[in-house]
Amino acid sequence: MASQYEVEHNVRFAPSAPSTRRINMASFFSLLNRVSSSGTATPHNNPHATPTLPDVANVFRLLQDQMQTLAATAPTDENRSFLMELVSALDEDIHDPPSRLEGVSQEFLDALERVSRSRLGKGEDCAICKIPYLEDQYCLVVELPCKGRHQFDLECVGPWLRSKGTCPMCREEMGKKKVVAAAEEDDDEDDMDMMYA
Ligand SMILES: [Zn+2]
Ligand SMILES: [Zn+2]
Repeated sequence: MASQYEVEHNVRFAPSAPSTRRINMASFFSLLNRVSSSGTATPHNNPHATPTLPDVANVFRLLQDQMQTLAATAPTDENRSFLMELVSALDEDIHDPPSRLEGVSQEFLDALERVSRSRLGKGEDCAICKIPYLEDQYCLVVELPCKGRHQFDLECVGPWLRSKGTCPMCREEMGKKKVVAAAEEDDDEDDMDMMYA
């Protein structure tokens, strides 16, 4: 009987391969935490809590770099043009950075709905990295609260959400939305008017 570890036909998954098409969260978040006023890593000996504009621009530049790197090795034309759209959207932020980052909080990311493996189809992949979710045994897929309920690897969408605060796919703003974990849907919205008395 063949060992289950035997590699047949020289075809096997290199476990580290998917990460080459993933955004480097570590370097992004270390910069973001320095810039973001709500960042946990804000040094308390820094009397100037507000980030300077070049810092904000650098966050976007780093994110743009990562998207550009992904675009350079895009497996499909569709993926490349999607990524290049994100790259050009970031151009604006780099050249005319907002006074503060308008992305979502880390808490928002943490509260995003996780999509369990059983809900993921075999061919489904992340629009950013194009790696089929199920190819990664540790995939962590989240569903955004936009109308399209767009799904991404948390790793891929996290930096974009933290800095831009929109769904990369439909650009719906996340900032004003609350992710409520187990909230029951209110079947009568007029209730709100009744309570306002
Ligand atoms: Zn991805
Ligand atoms: Zn969306």
